[in-house]
Amino acid sequence: MKRILIRVAAAGLWLASAAAGVPDELTIRLVDTPVVPRNALQEGERVAERILAQAGIRVQWMDCAVERCASVSSFWIQFVDRLPSWLPPDTAGYAVPAPPQGMAPYAIVSYRSVVESAPETTALEVMLGASLAHEIGHLLLGRSAHTLNGIMSARLGNREIGMAARGALRFTGEQVRQIRGTMRRESAFRVDPASRSEQ
Ligand SMILES: [Zn+2]
Repeated sequence: MKRILIRVAAAGLWLASAAAGVPDELTIRLVDTPVVPRNALQEGERVAERILAQAGIRVQWMDCAVERCASVSSFWIQFVDRLPSWLPPDTAGYAVPAPPQGMAPYAIVSYRSVVESAPETTALEVMLGASLAHEIGHLLLGRSAHTLNGIMSARLGNREIGMAARGALRFTGEQVRQIRGTMRRESAFRVDPASRSEQ
């Protein structure tokens, strides 16, 4: 029942955003997916989809291991084994929402860090999905998007991951408003290398 309600609510958001002329689909290119166990990735994607649906976004994942990612210009997330040592130890990833010109905004997620930073009672795919949604949040909201509560909490601990498992971890109302603004500006997340090279 709960699942049905969430879907209905998400569908309502999509309709509302479509009516307002705001794109609701966001393609995320996933690079080096073999780093992540297949089942964990699929389940993690579902968790991230649910969180982003609450901001009116329908995520389309592209697996660059099997799909032609070069044909699309959009955000990308690369999976790595280990994160750089300068990051805090309980960090699962980081985002570069404003890369050098000609590059699409991207994020890096370490599955090993997801495993190591997950609260003990947490299903890893929930931690992975919340981490994906958090980094996509940075790509849409910028680097300084941390809040005390919700999916953009600086640290996804027991409380946040428990909420994610219940479908209750979400963006704040203000963040949803900002995300809708970013989605309206297509240039914010679509990079056309041909047009960029002419500038
Ligand atoms: Zn963050």
